[in-house]
Amino acid sequence: MVVQNGFETRLVHAGYDGREAADAATPPIYASAAFDMESAERGDAVAGGNVVGFSYSRVANPTVAVLEQRLASLEGGVGAVAVASGMAAVSFALLCAAEGGGRIISPGNLYGASVDAMSSFFPHFGVHTDFVHDINDLHAVESLIGDDTRAIFAESVANPSTDVTDIEPLARLAHSHGIPLIIDNTVPTPYLLRPIEFGADVVVHSTTKGITGHGNAIGGVIIDAGRFDWANGRFPQFTAREQVISDDRGNEWHSFADRFGAEAFIRRIRIKYLRTFGAVESPFNAYLHLVGLETLTQRVRQEVESATVIARHLRTLPHVVRVNYSGLSDDDQKNLVAKYLPEGVGTILSFLVDGDYANVRRIIDATRLFTYIPNIGDARSLIVDPARITHREVPARFRRDAGVSDNLIRLSIGLEDPVDLIADLDQAIAAGYEG
Ligand SMILES: *Cc1c(COP(=O)(O)O)cnc(C)c1O
Repeated sequence: MVVQNGFETRLVHAGYDGREAADAATPPIYASAAFDMESAERGDAVAGGNVVGFSYSRVANPTVAVLEQRLASLEGGVGAVAVASGMAAVSFALLCAAEGGGRIISPGNLYGASVDAMSSFFPHFGVHTDFVHDINDLHAVESLIGDDTRAIFAESVANPSTDVTDIEPLARLAHSHGIPLIIDNTVPTPYLLRPIEFGADVVVHSTTKGITGHGNAIGGVIIDAGRFDWANGRFPQFTAREQVISDDRGNEWHSFADRFGAEAFIRRIRIKYLRTFGAVESPFNAYLHLVGLETLTQRVRQEVESATVIARHLRTLPHVVRVNYSGLSDDDQKNLVAKYLPEGVGTILSFLVDGDYANVRRIIDATRLFTYIPNIGDARSLIVDPARITHREVPARFRRDAGVSDNLIRLSIGLEDPVDLIADLDQAIAAGYEG
């Protein structure tokens, strides 16, 4: 069955043909480290990449391949590589573009570990980041572009501020300088936003979050739009000859760009990054991601509806001085939300309370239904204090850019009855100021 239908049909069917798997209705878990290459001739062809087939699960696995093809279809890419976590996806994508002394342009309002990687760890590998205060300030972004700039990176919807990136003009600016735009689309999920439709070249996700939706498996994915010209002179790693994709006995040499064309980036992720760094997605986790993915639309739709009701309610409460849920108010984000996220900005929101950190602590400890957990995108509703937990490792100036102060509380809204969630927040916030 080759399915090229609507989004919800592809959520359930894309990338899987049961006839290749004993007619199993759901994709089986291929718990096999390696695969029979059948004959010397076929082994040579598979190893050389001339025949599509599986040989070793660090490079590709049939269960993981279903997930990869399904996510590529949902985001509108030419290919995808699933990896062991969202951070592996972020790190692989950025290093694959910027390795060998490149620079990245990024805002500071990112997931904590991404900021940590880019500000304090990638520099040890010779990859540096120029941080911009506001990624939607195109003049500021353009002023940072230099000969070594190899990628612009942003989250489509930032966590916990829910600030929206204006992807289309940013992609145009990047492309006018021969630079790719890489977008972390974890918060909205492909149900709410598909960055490739607006010009992004590479999309990454933590599949741990809304894509799986049940908080039961860690994973990540890199998806390639297949439109960027990696042979434009800025990316020597794509035009250098590579033994692993060449035939040195036949003296036939290839680079990733000449061998794979539109798929150069995603092939390089698999053949260099996944194969050598080895942060491979397990087939068991891929199976859990696939099961979760089937209900993405229904879950996210319900969670966005509840999050909207809860955000509106929080604005009426004493001690709540600000609610961050883009699109809710007449702020400067309203037009961006209407353009990119007409079905809603996502399932997380954050709010600022008065008093000090002692009050935040008491609120968190008083919740009964919300669970105190750093994750997002779970069927359970979650609460966290980002300054102490999710953004703890982030330098103060980036915490400011991300709007993370000691008095900020983040919620990830799940599938419970919103009436119960509101009652829990009401009593917890009241308890935060008693005595
Ligand atoms: C959680 C998250 C990550 C990291 O994903 P892991 O699966 O935890 O490694 C990256 N980016 C964003 C926006 C996230 O929310």
